Amino acid sequence: MQQQICTILNRADVGAELVVSGWVRTRRDSGGFSFLELTDGSCLTGLQIIADQELANYVTEIKKLTTGCSVEISGQLQDSPAKGQAVELVASAVRVLGWADPETYPLQKKRHSFEFLRNLSHLRPRTNALAAVARVRGRLALAVNHFFAERGFIQVHTPIITTSDCEGAGEMFQVTTAGGQSDQSDGQGQHEFFGRRAGLTVSGQLQAEVYAQALGRVYTFGPTFRAENSNTSRHLAEFWMIEPEMAFCDLACNMALAEDLLRYLLADVLEHCGPDLQMFDRFIDKGLIARLQQVVDQDFARITYTEAVDQLLAADRLFEFPVSWGIDLQSEHERYLCEDVYGRPLIVTNYPAAIKPFYMRMNEDGRTVAAMDILVPGIGEIVGGSQREERLEPLLARMEEAGLDSEEYGWYLDLRRYGTAPHAGFGLGFERLVQYVTGMQNIREVIPFPRTPGFAPC
Ligand code: ATP
Ligand code: MN
Repeated sequence: MQQQICTILNRADVGAELVVSGWVRTRRDSGGFSFLELTDGSCLTGLQIIADQELANYVTEIKKLTTGCSVEISGQLQDSPAKGQAVELVASAVRVLGWADPETYPLQKKRHSFEFLRNLSHLRPRTNALAAVARVRGRLALAVNHFFAERGFIQVHTPIITTSDCEGAGEMFQVTTAGGQSDQSDGQGQHEFFGRRAGLTVSGQLQAEVYAQALGRVYTFGPTFRAENSNTSRHLAEFWMIEPEMAFCDLACNMALAEDLLRYLLADVLEHCGPDLQMFDRFIDKGLIARLQQVVDQDFARITYTEAVDQLLAADRLFEFPVSWGIDLQSEHERYLCEDVYGRPLIVTNYPAAIKPFYMRMNEDGRTVAAMDILVPGIGEIVGGSQREERLEPLLARMEEAGLDSEEYGWYLDLRRYGTAPHAGFGLGFERLVQYVTGMQNIREVIPFPRTPGFAPC
């Protein structure tokens, strides 16, 4: 395979004869030469190509190259006299692979709004910002796997089609082959492929618990789906989640792992995605790099839900949603706490049982559960987790309260009947993480093909 531009720029192997392929970003003609800026997606920086007018296809092709054309170039790498680049490639041959008609090619040299680009899902990764997001996202995925491998975790693949609504929130997409004809049935009739109601998973947690109760430390990293009609800058209908689940682990151990994971991931991208992060820092979110570095260097703050409510009640500020013990914290509350009060990531623990799912472990007080959410400046909730209820009786009581049919969860209850063990885990929303690391305002820009209500173009 040919060398990629990032490798060529790193090695700066002056004098080497190379072949390189990519897309033309710009062409400028001057003094009998054309200067092409070539990118191949491997890094933010392009490679400057010098094409002499003596080249055979100079007039017929090279002078007609425009933004977006693809080319293969042979040439020799030389020291560059120009500022801002160490090397450039002096072309001995330029072969055009694909033209891009400048009359219709939608990506012009000027900056396009992210909203405009969303309607060009098939071309937007050719822009600097979206390509940088894709590289950072890919690096983060790799780092997630490194982190868990280094700590003895096994990756398990949990099903995308499930028959249990983990969050019990009724935000599931139904899966059926029946189309419109299932109207007569109650959704559980003979038309149903699985013989019962099935949906796209909202979380792999319950199945991950099964494997944690056999392998000890496991994690899932896959797509999840929520039919929530929330048109916010932090919600998608399809998003990816990282969900570790650990046997013989309590809430404190769970929090420690989540904090380690976040700090590890930030340190990793700071080390490996420097140029992309500098671009985000410069054009998207000023001060980004310093903020990420601070998170790496500093412990997270930790408070209980009850302390959080006290802080909010004492706040010198009027919230849109009034505060009292028992409410679910809203985004404005979460952001006030981690941005204004603590100025760093914050772990909030021990939420009221009534606002949390049935599987979270009841605390001794009988009214709070061993839950923990991690809130980060600019985003709000990025991690939601808990120690799980490993005792059969309290779990049955919680399920009854939540109106869940214990027959249907027989398999989940069996885990408490046979060799039950304390265990804990959490879900880290992968796109919220990418948003946090890149400073991108809208979550739709950090997933290659966003799905939101009314939107799924390709
Ligand atoms: P929120 O209150 O922000 O809607 P949640 O309480 O519904 O979050 P959980 O069910 O705990 O979230 O899911 C775990 C993590 O998944 C969240 O901390 C968040 O990072 C992410 N997440 C949840 N819903 C979405 C969504 N619709 N789009 C993208 N990420 C999400
Ligand atoms: Mn939600």
